[in-house]
Amino acid sequence: MASLPLSPVLPLAGGRTIPQLGLGVYKVEDAGAADTVRVALEAGYRHVDTAALYRNEAGVGEGIRRSGVPRDELFVTTKVWNDRHGYDEALRAFDESLGRLGLDRVDLYLIHWPAPRQDRYVETWRALEAIAADGRATSIGVSNFEPHHLDRLLTRSGITPAVNQVELHPWLPQAELRAYNAAHGILTEAWSPLARGRVLGSPVLAGLAAKHGRTAAQIVLRWHLQLGNVVIPKSVTPERIRENLDVFGFVLDAGDLDSIASLASGERTGLHPDDHG
Ligand code: NDP
Repeated sequence: MASLPLSPVLPLAGGRTIPQLGLGVYKVEDAGAADTVRVALEAGYRHVDTAALYRNEAGVGEGIRRSGVPRDELFVTTKVWNDRHGYDEALRAFDESLGRLGLDRVDLYLIHWPAPRQDRYVETWRALEAIAADGRATSIGVSNFEPHHLDRLLTRSGITPAVNQVELHPWLPQAELRAYNAAHGILTEAWSPLARGRVLGSPVLAGLAAKHGRTAAQIVLRWHLQLGNVVIPKSVTPERIRENLDVFGFVLDAGDLDSIASLASGERTGLHPDDHG
């Protein structure tokens, strides 16, 4: 099947770029991950978001190899899990992730959660800085960091995170956190961009989908792109994988964006970062 147009890229700190739309693979079984990733890369995706937690880094690496897409055209993210915080542990966890992926570097390595009760994320960040210094992670960043976690990190470390990957969808548009990130040169990346599919039944989205001749998922993904978010929808369904990438050929107007803003309820699909890990 023919490839769809590639995602545009956004600038990252340090002169790098990141494809604005990628494939998320949380809850994709390791055994099926290779096929899912291959289908996505063949469709035109160039960005995959995994994590040690997902237990599918080996399948992701296999999918990358099977796709035949050259490594330097791809953007691969993985993350250090909560049970590997601390300088030495994070270095070891990173080596293990690279081994499972079968890669000699990743494009982005993230602290998955600040896990504030452990109070070790600054130490963990120092390990990520070392990994960046030796070139094995081209960029480093964080996930699920609130402004108070970032304030602390920024006063105690040398490198500003390139990215903060957070829960973000029409129920939880995260305006303040996006503004904080932007003010500090940190790109906002949206996880559960479709609220795990739960927001898609909204009549507001159905109306916009009818108006634009698109699906509700495409309307939500287009909203993310227009907010300037990096967005990583997950699907194991080939038609949806393609549908989710086919969002560069239409534009939501100001009224459409206002309608989507009316869906903000503060509802989360996951835990608040202060309550995790
Ligand atoms: P999403 O918001 O991406 O929703 C995924 C769900 O929506 C799946 O059930 C999928 O079904 C369904 N879906 C996908 N596309 C469509 C479509 N076009 N029409 C209808 N249904 C659709 O949820 P995730 O939680 O997976 O978030 C995306 C990614 O974000 C993760 O995979 C992971 O990479 C990352 N993430 C990061 C976290 C963090 O703490 N940093 C936490 C959670 C997620 P199906 O697969 O059956 O097609």
